[in-house]
Amino acid sequence: MSQPSSTSPLARLLADFDAPSLGAELYRFVEAAYPICRSITGDGVRQTLALLDAIVPLEVHEVASGTQVFDWTVPEEWNVRQAWIQTPGGERIADVQQHNLHLLNYSQPVHRRMSLEELRPHLFSLPEQPQRIPYRTSYFKRQWGFCLPHEQLQSLTEGEYEVFIDTTLEAGALTYGEHWLAGQSEQTVHLSAHVCHPSLANDNLSGLAVVAFVGRLLRRLSRDHGPLRYSYRCLFAPGTLGAITWLARNQEAAGRIRHGLVAANLGDGGSFHFKRSRRGDSQLDQAVERVLIDSGEPHAVEDFLPFGYDERQYCSPGFDLAIGSLTRTPWGRYPEYHTDADNLDLVRPEHLAASLHRYLQVIQVLEENRCYRNLNPHCEPQLGRRGLYNLIGGRDDGREHQLALLWVLNLSDGDHSLLDICRRSGLSFHQVLDAVADLRQVDLLVPLETDISVETDP
Ligand code: ZN
Repeated sequence: MSQPSSTSPLARLLADFDAPSLGAELYRFVEAAYPICRSITGDGVRQTLALLDAIVPLEVHEVASGTQVFDWTVPEEWNVRQAWIQTPGGERIADVQQHNLHLLNYSQPVHRRMSLEELRPHLFSLPEQPQRIPYRTSYFKRQWGFCLPHEQLQSLTEGEYEVFIDTTLEAGALTYGEHWLAGQSEQTVHLSAHVCHPSLANDNLSGLAVVAFVGRLLRRLSRDHGPLRYSYRCLFAPGTLGAITWLARNQEAAGRIRHGLVAANLGDGGSFHFKRSRRGDSQLDQAVERVLIDSGEPHAVEDFLPFGYDERQYCSPGFDLAIGSLTRTPWGRYPEYHTDADNLDLVRPEHLAASLHRYLQVIQVLEENRCYRNLNPHCEPQLGRRGLYNLIGGRDDGREHQLALLWVLNLSDGDHSLLDICRRSGLSFHQVLDAVADLRQVDLLVPLETDISVETDP
């Protein structure tokens, strides 16, 4: 085995990554948060933020109902006590206490007796997956309803039904939480996950878990080894409206976001999928693609489109932030998506841990990518005299390491970043980092002292 010479604290964190124990911790959060009835407002969000706060400390914000946020208004706060249907035979079905997905999210209160014909327009099912409970919401149109398996819906008989939905829609607040880790620069890496889905494990809880643990590990790293280069924000906010609310209230801070990722669908067994930022070729886009290529595992990369999660807001033209979305199987492309089958069986600890590892690898690339200057730019320096040939001799990747040394020397003219060198040479980020470490040791290379706040993306 070759001895990697890159020993930054982040590199060591990744090398010592204890996947089984971290996977168990990530999964424990998913298990604990799964039964909570979340929505875009209400106590379910607050309870979930309290669980996240136990992983990484959060500042929780309450934004009053009625607050204008760009083109939107924070709605009345929704909370649920109970909801069920009683059949003519006296059986309770679609009970929200049995499964949160049974209730159309944001249903207004109702307590009435009615015929099956009257009830039917309020019942939602998935004919193509007749045993699954679908997930449905109605945030901005006042209505009520229940979601149930199509099989069950079809078995309902004529007669009088009692419908009881004990919910409240009252002036309250939209709640979100953020963790902030100050770095050497105020330029920020913004990680965001939606916190609004009830009892959906992969589409929601997996993203929250991964972002929270990235926050926790970076916080420890920073405490033990000093601040990272970038500042980091972990944002846990309701989908769409939460991101819009955050952006409306934090326009200056948004201007300091340099890179970002929207996290979701990170606990299933699918391969990684990167949806590029609207810019498409920002340093963030290059970093994620580099990590995926270097992993040697199957993966997919897709261009931005204005559909999906909160990248829709971050990449709206008024912001146009370098924020992409790194997931496993993307939303809508697995059969369990937005049904009760997106549960604790679909999400596995080992997949959560591997996702956390990928996110940290992206962060390592962002932290370590920079431009260097070759201090001996007139013809090749004599590497043997500096002991670098001996080093090569002892490595099983000797030839590639030699090539990496020469590529780094050649392209370190102050204009090419390490990611540029990877792209040009086909070498992995780690091969390039190892070469940088060796060349710095013999004073052939110095980092360009640029202020990252004024660096521009290509
Ligand atoms: Zn969703």
